[in-house]
Amino acid sequence: MAHRALVRPIGLVPALCRPQHVSRPFSTVLDTPINPAAQQTPPPAPSSSVFHDAVQAAAPRTNWTKEEISELYNTPLINLTYAAATVHRRFHNPAAIQMCTLMNIKTGGCSEDCSYCAQSSRYNTGLKASKMVDVASVLEAARVAKENGSSRFCMGAAWRDMRGRKTNLKNVKEMVKGVRAMGMEACVTLGMIDAEQAKELKDAGLTAYNHNVDTSREHYPSVITTRTYDERLATINNVQNAGIHVCTGGILGLGEKPQDHVGLIHTVATLPSHPESFPVNALVPIKGTPLGESKAIAFDAILRTIATARLVLPTTIIRLAAGRHTMREEKQMMCFMAGANAVFTGEKMLTTACNGWEEDKAMFDRWGLRPMESHETIGGQQEIAEAKSEASIGEALTSAEQTTPASI
Ligand code: SF4
Repeated sequence: MAHRALVRPIGLVPALCRPQHVSRPFSTVLDTPINPAAQQTPPPAPSSSVFHDAVQAAAPRTNWTKEEISELYNTPLINLTYAAATVHRRFHNPAAIQMCTLMNIKTGGCSEDCSYCAQSSRYNTGLKASKMVDVASVLEAARVAKENGSSRFCMGAAWRDMRGRKTNLKNVKEMVKGVRAMGMEACVTLGMIDAEQAKELKDAGLTAYNHNVDTSREHYPSVITTRTYDERLATINNVQNAGIHVCTGGILGLGEKPQDHVGLIHTVATLPSHPESFPVNALVPIKGTPLGESKAIAFDAILRTIATARLVLPTTIIRLAAGRHTMREEKQMMCFMAGANAVFTGEKMLTTACNGWEEDKAMFDRWGLRPMESHETIGGQQEIAEAKSEASIGEALTSAEQTTPASI
């Protein structure tokens, strides 16, 4: 009888026998009465207080130790991703994915020696260096990005730093103002900047500044020798002090070890405040660079890094960045389920391929995802709060003017 019940089409099961609001466990015979109490899957047993505290977190903390992060990173992946999904739902809407478009506003000819980069003048990658793109062309690209659903427009220039680049900075500020005037968030990545340059960009309305630390402090010297880890942190510090949101993350697949993923997360988790955005890139090997023949990083390492980052940086937007175009849709979805909630979308991502808008829209439709609105991001919420407080200051001043006697 049990066998017959198993093959009976579900539409013929008497209504009274059908479970209501209760999922049927795999292999349950449909005629067997369901005990709802037995249906509830308990959350994974916390393996330690570190794991338990991370899952229960109500706010971000910046005093993480490497040992604690390592413990999370080494949790069995099935439990780690479940925990990350739980925390993700507490701090973010899991259906909302931020769509950003990244444009190269100045290609190639960079003096740095980043071993993965097509734009370094030290490697023969066949990439032709070009001058900075004019402001009007950048704003036209931003308009197209907005039309296609992107809410953030990012502009990258292959420079070591901004020293002696006054005209370039002036043009970048025009671009930032133009993008902001369209109602989009604006992000730039221009290499190292000092406190004054950060302030100028903030005054122009810049939403976020990207400056990746790339990897752990320990592995960093095997990837880049022309600037130090601390120089990178100094730029991040200047950006944070200017009141601009920080976008900083890393690249996986640079020949690092798992502990370097822990080290990378530890660096950003112990900044004075967590970055607004943490990009996770998978190396796209470029022929002619020292890492041009590298093997692809295993997917489970990418997923583990994203899930750990979600637990450690609960309010941060985690950005699935370069290398996403090499991932099948199911893999991307696993990353979204484990806490990633931003993508780069458009025609190109700096010098590497990118998933196009149409492709992403179709994927979003299949899985019930939607583009994140600006007001849903921490940056957006902060801007709204700032605008409100400016408005209330304005109102207070106006009412004070109205009630102040003409002379005292
Ligand atoms: S990653 Fe940036 S700083 Fe490094 S070589 Fe490329 S463009 Fe220059």
